[in-house]
Amino acid sequence: MSTRRILAMQQVVNREPLENQRKSDKVSNYYGSDVFGQDAMREFLSEEAYESLQNSISHGTTIERKMADQIAACMKAWAQSKGVTHYTHWFQPLTGTTAEKHDGFFEPIEGGRAIERFSGNQLIQQEPDASSFPSGGIRNTFEARGYTAWDPTSPAFIWGGTLCIPTIFVSYTGEALDYKTPLLKSLHALDKAATDVCQYFDKNVTKVIATLGWEQEYFLIDSALYNIRYDLQQTGRTLFGHASAKGQQLEDHYWGSIPERVVAFMRDFEYECHLLGIPVRTRHNEVAPAQFECAPVYEEANLAVDHNQLLMDVMEKVAIRHKMRVLLHEKPFAGVNGSGKHNNWSLGTNTGKNLLSPGKTPKTNMQFLTFFVNTVKAVYEHADLLRASIASANNDHRLGANEAPPAIMSVFLGGQLSNVLDELEKAVHSGKMSPEEKTALKMSIGRIPDILMDNTDRNRTSPFAFTGNKFEFRAVGSSANCGWPMTVLNAIVAEQLIEFKKEVDGLMEKNGVEKDEAIFQVLKKYITQSKKIRFEGNGYGDEWKAEAKKRGLSNIPTTPPALDAMIDKKSLHLFESLGILNHRELEARYEISLETYTKKIQIESRIIAEMVNNQIIPAALNYQKGLIESVKGMKDIMSASEFKKYSESQMDLIKEISDRVSLIKNEAVLMTEERKNANNLDSAKKQANAYNEKVKAYFDSIRYNVDKLEAIVDDAQWPLPKYREMLYLR
Ligand code: ADP
Ligand code: MG
Repeated sequence: MSTRRILAMQQVVNREPLENQRKSDKVSNYYGSDVFGQDAMREFLSEEAYESLQNSISHGTTIERKMADQIAACMKAWAQSKGVTHYTHWFQPLTGTTAEKHDGFFEPIEGGRAIERFSGNQLIQQEPDASSFPSGGIRNTFEARGYTAWDPTSPAFIWGGTLCIPTIFVSYTGEALDYKTPLLKSLHALDKAATDVCQYFDKNVTKVIATLGWEQEYFLIDSALYNIRYDLQQTGRTLFGHASAKGQQLEDHYWGSIPERVVAFMRDFEYECHLLGIPVRTRHNEVAPAQFECAPVYEEANLAVDHNQLLMDVMEKVAIRHKMRVLLHEKPFAGVNGSGKHNNWSLGTNTGKNLLSPGKTPKTNMQFLTFFVNTVKAVYEHADLLRASIASANNDHRLGANEAPPAIMSVFLGGQLSNVLDELEKAVHSGKMSPEEKTALKMSIGRIPDILMDNTDRNRTSPFAFTGNKFEFRAVGSSANCGWPMTVLNAIVAEQLIEFKKEVDGLMEKNGVEKDEAIFQVLKKYITQSKKIRFEGNGYGDEWKAEAKKRGLSNIPTTPPALDAMIDKKSLHLFESLGILNHRELEARYEISLETYTKKIQIESRIIAEMVNNQIIPAALNYQKGLIESVKGMKDIMSASEFKKYSESQMDLIKEISDRVSLIKNEAVLMTEERKNANNLDSAKKQANAYNEKVKAYFDSIRYNVDKLEAIVDDAQWPLPKYREMLYLR
């Protein structure tokens, strides 16, 4: 074994003893104690300041300057009581991660002394130099300023000894440069549209929120092994690696007993999460070896997105304490499952009702069906945009592979609800309904059993599935900021609900149709129109690909072409009409997504060439040298016939190594050429396409030969940790 690997393995064996579990306390005793939440607010804020902040949180009212000063001072006092010296605006630029720049509270004053201060201005707004964040050409070099602005709906928290204030991030001219800004706007649009529709059923509804519960999948790997895999370090995935003889085929990992070392990590990071008010509650082994999942109790979507972003940071840091690394990449290992972030999404009212939960009576079920059918219709109308919202170089490895929801968007409803919709479609015909028809309808609506939630089929192959009282968008990537797919989902449902209300009102006003019947008629129409998007079968099968093609559904397996839907007419109109993003902002986002794609593939391609030239080929040739010497030696000591007989297998190995090395070498050169060609193209679109079609085309064949070499070269001389070592946490 190579020296580096031996050292690495020793580190595995000699790792420090697991940190003692200090967390024997009840979670409820410390939950949220690092959050400036209700308790802290009541304790530290004056009555007046508390009211003002609450109003702003619930109704979006502006907080006056004087009040902001007060709130800031109280936040500072609270943070200081916990030993905090610095604060930061915490935001989500389009890099996909979070950004922070810490500033101290202290201010030097006369006499060489200092005081601690934190003003309302510092709380509300800052002007970071934004020129190094992706902007997609919105900001030219003359205007490098951007600003961050406080989002009071997501509470401040203490992480890493710093007071973090969740903020939006926009350019100086007001364009969104982050994920939070459009998310908040989409939630606002959805609130308005859904509240309006709720008036048909319940006048008490004055606010509708989107709820989100994400399920986060991830891999863990020993730090020592990670530290000598340059591909993992720099790209987040293994670019080479022969499959382990034992992978996931025995299906013995899923929900299996969690390794002790991993449980220790989980308890630690859950503890940190609970201090931060992140309600993670579920943990289990996932399908692939060394793959795990955690899931929280759902929350309001904006808060849930913040919490997911924070969680990813917490996990990475806590894993390092345990001498492990978290891999959030969608596909760190070939041949075993990749990771996703299922987004469970629903709508909740101020009256405490889940609008996607079937009710007990025909009346409440009509409300349920309205939101249910409109969501299906929205996905049908904007399937391509939804697909684009989860497109990334990483996620391409997952979608369409035989393990993750396919790149074809479809909606799974489950047998019972499919039947209900089919019945509705048949029952209503155009024109006025007869009393019998109405009764039949109410019957079938009323008949949706409330045990539905427990017995909905679990179709794991659908990218967008109804699971009893929520939709689950499963195609979201594990490393993604789920704010963007949630923005898209909120937006398309908002648009659809507005359209629905317009149609129903139209029927009522112009044609004098009664309310219930107008609702039925429009829903019926939507059911017929959106039928194509419904699919109950196996989403992994080839039959579905053929069937989807027949239905005219898109199947766009790679990112650059998938992204086009972001800026087509329909999407531009959607975002502009709802005031979520204007065309400049949307085009900028499109451009950034393309550039990010290009850079990711470019980095992977460079790492492939480096590893091939510096690690793989030298190791193979070294091994081959030994073989050649051995053959020469055999010739010296053997008779001609013996030599012929015994040298053959070694000669084959020598030749195979030469063959594979020259194939790899040639392809690496050709790949580098293609990279040069791609870099010279004059638009982000062309570059991304070239990286997708020309550069990436070499990855698999280079890998194929490298993995074959791994299988024949002496284990002791192979420079990289192998799948069989990495995938099993000892
Ligand atoms: P699974 O889908 O793995 O069987 P559950 O149905 O219990 O698990 O829930 C998965 C996720 O869905 C959890 O994060 C949970 O909080 C979330 N969830 C449950 N109800 C809702 C809802 N009304 N809105 C959004 N998310 C929800
Ligand atoms: Mg799940």
